[in-house]
Amino acid sequence: MKREIVKYGAKVLTEKTAPVTTFDEALAQLVADMFETMYDAPGVGLAAPQVGVSKRLFVMDCSKAHDRQFVFINPEILLTEGRQTGDEGCLSFPGIYFEVERAARVVVRAQNVRGEWFEGDFLDLEARCVLHEYDHLEGNLFIDKASPLRREMIRRKIQKLKREGKW
Ligand code: ZN
Repeated sequence: MKREIVKYGAKVLTEKTAPVTTFDEALAQLVADMFETMYDAPGVGLAAPQVGVSKRLFVMDCSKAHDRQFVFINPEILLTEGRQTGDEGCLSFPGIYFEVERAARVVVRAQNVRGEWFEGDFLDLEARCVLHEYDHLEGNLFIDKASPLRREMIRRKIQKLKREGKW
């Protein structure tokens, strides 16, 4: 079932999330719903706070064919390396894109939907996505990485959209 995506301004997006402790049917349903919501948007990553659930998990699929699905539950970043710059967006900031610098590689440890731990090594777009989504779990948003001038421009754009009832 598709869920509603929470937009910037909602408190849940800036709160630190709680660890997942129960690996049950409800969790599996949440993960399935998050994939459905992400593909529908469309996007390549979605964190639980973005559907209003303040828990430590996110989903990702950066492939065109929708055949590289990853679920990261209680993730820990083990290593970051290198640098990349590129335009980044966020499903909680519809229509807003700007250049963000990220590590080019990330090694992450996380649990899957059954609670089993795995380790993943990601590069380029997938590394960018993992780092972006991980930030959501800490209550950090990509707008924090914008320059003060850019941040102000984005805030004004959002204010305008809010006045027009489009946010
Ligand atoms: Zn995001």
